[in-house]
Amino acid sequence: MARCRKSNTNYKFISSLILICILVLYFFFAPGEESDLPVTVSGDDMYVHFIDVGQGDAALIQTASGNLLIDAGTSDSIETLTDYINALGVETLDYAIFTHPHADHIGGATAVLNTYTIQNVIMPNAVSTSATFEKMLAAIEAEQCEVIEGKAGVSFSMGEVQVDLLAPVSDDFSDLNNASVVTKITYGNVSFLFTGDAETSSESEMLEQNAAKLNADILKVGHHGSSTSSSVKFLSAVSPEVAVVSVGLYNEYGHPHAEIVSRLEDTGAAIYRTDKNGSVVIYTDGTKYEIQTEK
Ligand SMILES: [Zn+2]
Repeated sequence: MARCRKSNTNYKFISSLILICILVLYFFFAPGEESDLPVTVSGDDMYVHFIDVGQGDAALIQTASGNLLIDAGTSDSIETLTDYINALGVETLDYAIFTHPHADHIGGATAVLNTYTIQNVIMPNAVSTSATFEKMLAAIEAEQCEVIEGKAGVSFSMGEVQVDLLAPVSDDFSDLNNASVVTKITYGNVSFLFTGDAETSSESEMLEQNAAKLNADILKVGHHGSSTSSSVKFLSAVSPEVAVVSVGLYNEYGHPHAEIVSRLEDTGAAIYRTDKNGSVVIYTDGTKYEIQTEK
């Protein structure tokens, strides 16, 4: 009997332990508000997704009138990117901007072109001899999408959302980073500035040509927070409330550089980083905005 009672006690103890484990696992891993990503667009909402693609860039802008992708991450992040876009139910990209022909921005471009219906491709008048770039060009041709040269002065709208390209200003690039298409997106009172990997020489040209247009609420920080970008004058013209750095954890370049992080802090902007926060989603109705992070 004693043995029976003992084994009964053991059974109760183990059951309780299992129950406690289940509860602990539930509270640790159940999706909270922070991890409730992604989301599907409806009504007049706009969602801007800074997708965590490691050491690279990819942002999806979902509006009631269409979708715009800015960069496609690296070749290592193709599955992450397409899984993310698929989870949103997105099948058509009205515009895909490939800011410049570096592998951390166009590594997933061919996969994106092969997976989704893309109506317009925007890219700068800059070429690379890399296989990644050649494959992307072949995929663009196969897809038969409209190709628009990305440069300062190009503008279009998606419903109420205004899209203005602010760079490249000239096509005299010392470095492919400075060929980066810089995109300003304005919806009502809320604006975003996507700078690709534009460095200080491109920033100076933008300041000279169109300083007033640079002001934005949310800044995708240039070149993953490298000290080759984000000059004091440029940041002061943008004057962001929110700065998003698209960057890989423990990357070999030391991005974001400490001096840029402190320079961003000096602007008073709230800083989000994809290496720490995972994907970052900003919702706006054109008057206010809200930020959700994966982590
Ligand atoms: Zn880059």
